[in-house]
Amino acid sequence: MPKQTPWSKLRAGNRRWVQERSTAGAARGAARRAKLSTSQAPFALVLGCSDSRLPAEIVFDQGLGDLFVVRTAGHVLDTAVLGSVEYAVAVLGVPLIVVLGHTGCGAVAAATGIVDGAPVPPGHIRDIAGHIAPNVLRARAAGAETATEISGHHSALTAELLRERSPLVDAAVREGRLEIVPAQYDLCTGTVAEVSAQPAVAAAA
Ligand SMILES: [Zn+2]
Repeated sequence: MPKQTPWSKLRAGNRRWVQERSTAGAARGAARRAKLSTSQAPFALVLGCSDSRLPAEIVFDQGLGDLFVVRTAGHVLDTAVLGSVEYAVAVLGVPLIVVLGHTGCGAVAAATGIVDGAPVPPGHIRDIAGHIAPNVLRARAAGAETATEISGHHSALTAELLRERSPLVDAAVREGRLEIVPAQYDLCTGTVAEVSAQPAVAAAA
């Protein structure tokens, strides 16, 4: 059997969940809770969208203590997000970050709307859309046309931005201690697929 990597563990968990063969229930009980009461050692960090249909532990079929999860609308980065990510990398030593966007993302749609001249959203929603808008432009410049292609690019560009904004994260990647995988979740099928910011987006294969 090939050696399991953190990413292959997550992909296997996602397959179980899609096929309605989830097994993580046993790892969410009182025994696990007691075992973890004084320490944690998550094997991955999921930086995902806050969308209610995208709960990381459920879609990857993982238990208590398995995932360190940071979620904001459109998985937008700010200093609190970067600090949370850096804590997981530097203190907890997570070896994998998955940047998890999804089809039908309202935050990406709002940013695309602003780029196309729609009214700017009220309050701090504007900040979220404003963070994403540059990635919409870059995605289109790379040939993305559909909302799904744009959000795939946004995940990949967020993965790049993480390294640009955090020297600590960048150093961990360069030293081979950390891998960052941009991915997209399909709201219809429940499947998570790796994506890239190259002109040909491998979204939801
Ligand atoms: Zn979303």
